[in-house]
Amino acid sequence: MTSPHLSPEELKALVRTVPDFPQPGIQFRDITTLIGHHQGMAASVHHLAALADAAGAQKIAGMEARGFIFGAAVAVQLGIGFVPVRKPGKLPIDTIGIDYALEYGTDRLEMDPGAVLPGQTVVMVDDLIATGGTALASAALLRKAGAVVSDALFVIDLPDLGGAERLRGAGITVNALMEFEGD
Ligand code: AMP
Repeated sequence: MTSPHLSPEELKALVRTVPDFPQPGIQFRDITTLIGHHQGMAASVHHLAALADAAGAQKIAGMEARGFIFGAAVAVQLGIGFVPVRKPGKLPIDTIGIDYALEYGTDRLEMDPGAVLPGQTVVMVDDLIATGGTALASAALLRKAGAVVSDALFVIDLPDLGGAERLRGAGITVNALMEFEGD
């Protein structure tokens, strides 16, 4: 069932690049092929869990939707709880939320205000960081709920889009399993 873990280089080879999706000029880094590969998924979770453990994670937060896939698996591996950071209108309770700017217009993220305890160390997990807008908003929301957010983990970083730098500017340590040039 188990086998030696694939390296980040081997994991990178499992990500499918789809040109011009969802619009011309975007190179879409598709993790469907990575998560469909058992050893690829297992090794991704293994590497992310080691980083989250080193960061002292008491809870893992994942951003909807692809952050749920990796984040929930990391939380299970570490034996800690998972906090979903959700798109608006999904949770059946009174939520706390944050609006954030997109290139055109705004978007919103919401969470259960009781999902973290004050002072709890929450490590964020998502599949990919591009401009960092989603991760910065998530960090602000989790902090509003009382969490200590000092680390964010990604499978993929697109460093040319500057998101990791923006996060570091907000006092968050960023780690990713791989990088792709360009956008
Ligand atoms: P951002 O808020 O700009 O950092 O965008 C991050 C989110 O958008 C991630 O959760 C990704 O799922 C998605 N995303 C942005 N750019 C790409 C891309 N080139 N390939 C795949 N997903 C992307």
